[in-house]
Amino acid sequence: MKEMQKEILSYLEKIIEEEKRLARKGEIPDYIEEVDNNDHGAVTVSLTSIDGTTVRAGDYEGRFSLQSISKLFPLALALMDHGSEEVFKYTGKAPTGNVYHSLIQMEMQEREKPLNPMVNSGAIVMCGLMKGENADKKVDRILALARDLTGNQELTYNEKVYEAEDQDLNRSLFYYNRHNGYIKGEFEDVMPVYWKMTAIEVTIEELSNMAAVIANHGVCVHSGKQIITKDVVTTLKAFMITCGMYDESGSFALEVGIPAKSGVSGSIVAAIPGKLGIGVMGPDLNKYSNSIAGIRMLKKISDKWKLSIFSED
Ligand code: GLN
Repeated sequence: MKEMQKEILSYLEKIIEEEKRLARKGEIPDYIEEVDNNDHGAVTVSLTSIDGTTVRAGDYEGRFSLQSISKLFPLALALMDHGSEEVFKYTGKAPTGNVYHSLIQMEMQEREKPLNPMVNSGAIVMCGLMKGENADKKVDRILALARDLTGNQELTYNEKVYEAEDQDLNRSLFYYNRHNGYIKGEFEDVMPVYWKMTAIEVTIEELSNMAAVIANHGVCVHSGKQIITKDVVTTLKAFMITCGMYDESGSFALEVGIPAKSGVSGSIVAAIPGKLGIGVMGPDLNKYSNSIAGIRMLKKISDKWKLSIFSED
């Protein structure tokens, strides 16, 4: 192992040790605790640089569901299918000050479209908009994209997590948006797509591989294949920095300064353009439904190597 990699590894091991010593303070959603495969004491981190080198530390063997990190997939596919002019007829571009499954902003602005594609309503609308004859075809396209991004061609979703995702709040978001004309399809052609994509399971290294593609302008750092077009990657990064951490996105931009997307499994994908992809995981969530350990580790990594995209150094 090269000197530089050793140095990175020893810093990552140090921050994992610090997290392991801290008392667990957050909440884990019940259904995740019951059916997710992950060890709920797990804390892990993986860095993949755009030259393809990966350094990982902590409990990196386990798999966990992507949850809302998967919202990047139907957005990317809808943008590549239809172009941004069409896509933004169906979703807004504004950050939210509300919880991720909120209905309130759509109701307050009469018949308004979802605020952005990173909240549940926007992601459900994107699952409706992306091309695919039925739910199975759409899920196949999402899995193909997720497999290319992570480098694991066997990647799939966890059946038990998928079943547990079927909850009334997201059902109501589907019907509300269909009522207002933002979804054209049938329930069974759209909602299984949303639920199955949130249940896709990855390892931490697969998550940092995915982050590295975003950091590397849409090109896989291992195969050299252009997986997502450059203009779509630009849009993804903009949404990650403005909306990726829900109503904590502003303080995350100030304190960490890295385009990122969180999921309620406690995972976060983060991409430093032209440099590095990062995956972090720690199941306890704060009041914004973001990983407590994940944010703390990302802050330490950002500070240590001055990775904030807003840094003047
Ligand atoms: N399964 C979750 C839901 O749709 C995903 C949300 C999240 O990760 N924030 O409610």
